[in-house]
Amino acid sequence: MYVLFLGPPGCGKGTQAQYLTEATDFLQLSTGDLIRAEIKAKTELGKQLESLYSSGKLVDGGLVLKMVQKVVASEGAKSILFDGFPRTVSQATAFGEFLQSVNKKLDCVFSFSLADSEILDRISGRMTCADCKAVYHAKTNPPKNEGICDKCGGELVKRTDDSRESVKLRLEEYHRETEPLKEFYKKENLVYEIDASQPIEMVRKQIFNKIEAISK
Ligand code: ADP
Ligand code: ZN
Repeated sequence: MYVLFLGPPGCGKGTQAQYLTEATDFLQLSTGDLIRAEIKAKTELGKQLESLYSSGKLVDGGLVLKMVQKVVASEGAKSILFDGFPRTVSQATAFGEFLQSVNKKLDCVFSFSLADSEILDRISGRMTCADCKAVYHAKTNPPKNEGICDKCGGELVKRTDDSRESVKLRLEEYHRETEPLKEFYKKENLVYEIDASQPIEMVRKQIFNKIEAISK
């Protein structure tokens, strides 16, 4: 099964993706994580991506699609959760053509919605484990010990692109470039709406129930 998480930065996609991959055999394909890994490894691609990424701008769609194709080619038999890609209608079109060419299709698009004001609060409190990528929040989802990951004991860090300025840019970009994808996928009858202002556990249940319903 192939599903996609669509929603603004900070709405809880990564948090929910983590639950899904822990409890099921879904592989999470987070293009944000792929990009951050390339940058950290200082690869050629990573160098090309770094300056755009840190300023909060969208990185080149062709480069991202290439990374996605590589993963699908090697892991395509598994269920995949696409997270953070596609980001624009033209990326979605290219992605759809690619999936078709390998005889695959999306089964559901989970569309998360959350007000901009709440997004800023969530991102300003966000901390991520440097080792296992688990996501926490100072208020809504704190770790048991400050600064330390519950799951693996790793160090919790703030992402370099989580500054207020960068978040504002990403939000504008989201509304302009990515939000139209909702209409794009509605036409294909793939959209399942998630009210992302609900508590984490309620969002989790809603997603699990839907996936169970589709699997039948
Ligand atoms: P995204 O992957 O969409 O950018 P995250 O999963 O990183 O979003 O969540 C952003 C922040 O909000 C994190 O600090 C996370 O702990 C917190 N968070 C996620 N979901 C919820 C929720 N339903 N209610 C309150 N806080 C949440
Ligand atoms: Zn960890």
